[in-house]
Amino acid sequence: TQILEVRGARRVFKTPEGGTVAALDGVDLDVGQNEFVTLLGPSGCGKTTLLRSISGFEQLDSGALMLEGKDIGRMPAFRRPVNTVFQSYALFSHMTVERNVAYSLEVAGASKQEQKILAGEALEMVGLSGTGSRMPSQLSGGQRQRVALARAIVARPKLLLLDEPLSALDRRLRQKMQIELKALQSELGIAFVFVTHDQEEALTMSDRIVVMRGGQIEQCGAPRDIFRKPRTKFVAEFIGDTNLFETTIECVHGGRILALTREGTKIWLSEETKLAKGDAATVVIRPTDLQVQDAHSSCGFRGKITRVIYLGTDLHYYVQPAVGGQELLVVSRTDGSRRAPGDEVTLTYRPERAHVVEDC
Ligand code: ADP
Ligand code: MG
Repeated sequence: TQILEVRGARRVFKTPEGGTVAALDGVDLDVGQNEFVTLLGPSGCGKTTLLRSISGFEQLDSGALMLEGKDIGRMPAFRRPVNTVFQSYALFSHMTVERNVAYSLEVAGASKQEQKILAGEALEMVGLSGTGSRMPSQLSGGQRQRVALARAIVARPKLLLLDEPLSALDRRLRQKMQIELKALQSELGIAFVFVTHDQEEALTMSDRIVVMRGGQIEQCGAPRDIFRKPRTKFVAEFIGDTNLFETTIECVHGGRILALTREGTKIWLSEETKLAKGDAATVVIRPTDLQVQDAHSSCGFRGKITRVIYLGTDLHYYVQPAVGGQELLVVSRTDGSRRAPGDEVTLTYRPERAHVVEDC
């Protein structure tokens, strides 16, 4: 059963130039009970508009919103059992941490004692027990974001929306908070819809990733599927480093595909496809799925190393294919057999790690 169903959501804004932009252009989305769903996409693709529509700060032009099967499309924001955490946490600076957290309960008319108990519980859940009497100015940025989180969960919403809540934090703190947020979600046992433009963050945290582009959903799936089987070139390039090959299908036989690049390089794939001989196809091979070898191989690309970048645990090799075409990126673990620019090598791969995207 779904906690949230969005159907045909559409929202058009006027642009300052006098035109219009469809911030949401026919979005269908289901979120399961207890699911961690991430909306991922570049700036301006409609992520915030979708969250604001779910929370009720924004009205859809058309489409339907159902929460636990009930139509909430016309319900005022404050009645929806949904809460939002924003990137800028906007705490009341003249109120203690506890009053900040309890504020929505106070507005709803809860007793002082109830406020105290619930705020204390919420603060404990975000790892801030004992800070209730401090002022926001006495907390670090990460702690303030935790207070904002406590404030959002204090009234026990059925769905928590998070709009880039970690973007303002530095990398180390962000990684720590990613793990904590995920733990908090399973402890609360509610669904999270989390927004980010950071693909790594999306891969780390989500049960399911929804990739958005231009007000539409481009692909929706488990992190592994989004990474391994991107449906489009856009998704392939947005989710991590990638090597793309523009090819023509040469033959399809028994689960094996042979594709040819413009330069005549053969690429072998092993996957289901509707493509047939003569079709154009973009092939994706991830940099971690290429291995640098000395010997020639029928399943590989001959080339010359142009650059080697040392990154501690990983090495990045840039390789110019011998037959021409784009430089390829290989990411390999740092090992003893370090190679240098100018070395002639073969890049090999397993055919099941090569993937054809559906549309280009
Ligand atoms: P994201 O959160 O993915 O960056 P937004 O949902 O904020 O994207 O914006 C989607 C599109 O809608 C953008 O083109 C943005 O300029 C436009 N937009 C969003 N809110 C408004 C608004 N209140 N008025 C006019 N245009 C808006
Ligand atoms: Mg946004």
